[in-house]
Amino acid sequence: VAQNPAQPEFHQAVKEVLESLRVVIEANEEEYRKEALLERLTTPERQILFRVPWVDDKGQVQVNNGFRVQFNSAIGPYKGGLRFHPSVNLGIIKFLGFEQVFKNSLTSLPIGGGKGGSDFDPKGKSDREVMAFCQSFMTELYRHIGADTDVPAGDIGVGGREIGYLYGQYKRIRDVYEGVLTGKGLTYGGSLARTEATGYGLVYITDELLKDHGTSFEGKTVAVSGAGNVAIYAIQKAQSLGAKVVTCSDSTGWIYDPEGIDVELLKEVKEVKRARLTEYAAQRSSAEYHEKKNGEHGVWTVKCDVALPCATQNELDLEDAKALVANGVYAVCEGANMPTTLDATKYLQDNGVLFICGKASNAGGVATSALEMSQNSERLSWSFEEVDNKLHDIMKNIYKSISEAAKQYGKEGDYVTGANIAGFLKVAEAMKAQGIV
Ligand code: NDP
Repeated sequence: VAQNPAQPEFHQAVKEVLESLRVVIEANEEEYRKEALLERLTTPERQILFRVPWVDDKGQVQVNNGFRVQFNSAIGPYKGGLRFHPSVNLGIIKFLGFEQVFKNSLTSLPIGGGKGGSDFDPKGKSDREVMAFCQSFMTELYRHIGADTDVPAGDIGVGGREIGYLYGQYKRIRDVYEGVLTGKGLTYGGSLARTEATGYGLVYITDELLKDHGTSFEGKTVAVSGAGNVAIYAIQKAQSLGAKVVTCSDSTGWIYDPEGIDVELLKEVKEVKRARLTEYAAQRSSAEYHEKKNGEHGVWTVKCDVALPCATQNELDLEDAKALVANGVYAVCEGANMPTTLDATKYLQDNGVLFICGKASNAGGVATSALEMSQNSERLSWSFEEVDNKLHDIMKNIYKSISEAAKQYGKEGDYVTGANIAGFLKVAEAMKAQGIV
């Protein structure tokens, strides 16, 4: 738990938000100070840290750290994913929970912000080991969550399999069949289009951005990083709008495929076989595989018009931004949470690159999770088209609200400032109305 107690990612996220809120904060300084609004906004309402013991296939007991940070419930029950990855620590979960508060506000749906996870690594574990871990994790988490209290979802390392095991254990302990988790399977309360939602939503908002600047995805070359849930469906949707996506990556290497990524093959390799991208390259003659090497810049060295980072935090640094600008990139929109470092973001914006930050551009996932909660509450399932249309409208509205907020505060075209201001104002208003809590 003490791993990286300085929590650099959390401080990075707070710094980015507060700096871009400067105009709003200065205009309301006296009131915010008196009510300690910013102190309350940056302090989680509750942080839960717990032990997760489980038994591996050799009969050996393993112990991991479990986390749930319930950051802010001003506008609805806590909502945000669970991440299972060895790099998880309290600072990472706090950064993700903080970002989630503003993102969820931007969706215009009634959901507060939270995040959780564990330093457990599902990679290389058997299904039984993953189940044992998930059951132990939920045996503590269940007492802190509920359909009207806190509704976790997936994130890195937590997909359909993990959500299934977690849900089964929750139901077994609580004996209630309720929408306590989202990203569920379609046979037990999941929503159609949830799997696709984050990637599709990213492409929908990027499309709005391009159209607003008189262009479109048609004929564009796109670089994507990652090869997980967000990346796969961003690639699929961008290609369906006429773009050619030429890259993807995982934690060990990356692919350059000048013919365009074969999404069906990528899904087979990553979702079914859970294999490395070497497997993709082995089955596709047009693909070049590059091993990941420290200090090399991977997918961002490839010439592209649009870059969509969809892997993890701080994966696109200043050197990457310079390479992208030198290659004439036109727009960068984040699929992952905080994939671009602060100096890289500044460099892109200073060089005229259109840039949308993750809390706006990847909000389609949580928005569709909120639609899953609505369906669970009314005990109905909507069609794929209905959910997809709602997602599309939500992403269009997010684009509208972030560009209008930027304009209103004298920062036209600065979508980071626009997203932070638009997300913040609603939460701040709700917090003020509810008194000192
Ligand atoms: P997945 O676990 O499905 O995929 C993550 C992908 O990124 C994998 O291909 C993984 O490689 C790769 N990756 C992880 N760490 C690194 C690294 N250090 N260097 C290079 N590649 C890496 O996760 P998701 O697609 O769900 O999440 C991706 C990002 O999107 C995260 O930042 C997440 O917080 C964010 N996000 C996800 C949402 C969702 O609905 N899923 C919603 C909003 C944001 P490998 O295959 O080797 O593990």
